[in-house]
Amino acid sequence: MGHQPYETWLISEEPLLPEDKQLLDEHIESCDACRQLSYSWVEVQGLFREPQLAHPSPGFAKRWQARLVEFELLEAERRQKRMSWMFFAVMAGAAAILSGFMVIQIFSSVQTPVQLFIGGMTLITGVLNLASAMQVAIIPFLNVILVSVPTYWWLILVLAACLLTLVLTLSARRILFSRRVSL
Ligand SMILES: [Zn+2]
Repeated sequence: MGHQPYETWLISEEPLLPEDKQLLDEHIESCDACRQLSYSWVEVQGLFREPQLAHPSPGFAKRWQARLVEFELLEAERRQKRMSWMFFAVMAGAAAILSGFMVIQIFSSVQTPVQLFIGGMTLITGVLNLASAMQVAIIPFLNVILVSVPTYWWLILVLAACLLTLVLTLSARRILFSRRVSL
């Protein structure tokens, strides 16, 4: 949304025309950024009205406007960061759902209590053995899973998991190493 000429009007030292004032009020009503600015501007003017403080020197509005450009750059950067976080959250949510789905797949594919027991035991044994003998544990564990779940499901799940991991890594990098926005 364009904030001109409202920003200029907001901080103008000249009185506005009634119709401009009307337009400005309407814009402030609907625009968070300009409302924020109008609050800060009122606050700043209040500070200068206090007797112990100096009056703004001529051209103060101009310098304020220069600061505003800087503020907008920061705002854009913050917005981008927020978007990255949202993206990260959505991807993390998707990863959680996928993991849950994988667990459901494992257990729903095991039909009888005996199979469930064997599956569970294999899982526990697998986890226990993992610490001492990685290879010994993983191979029977994988066999049970591969036998009980159609292979193409695993292909899809593993591919999706890989893709998610990649996307999560990339978006985490983006958040951690985000640079200044160049406009
Ligand atoms: Zn605005």
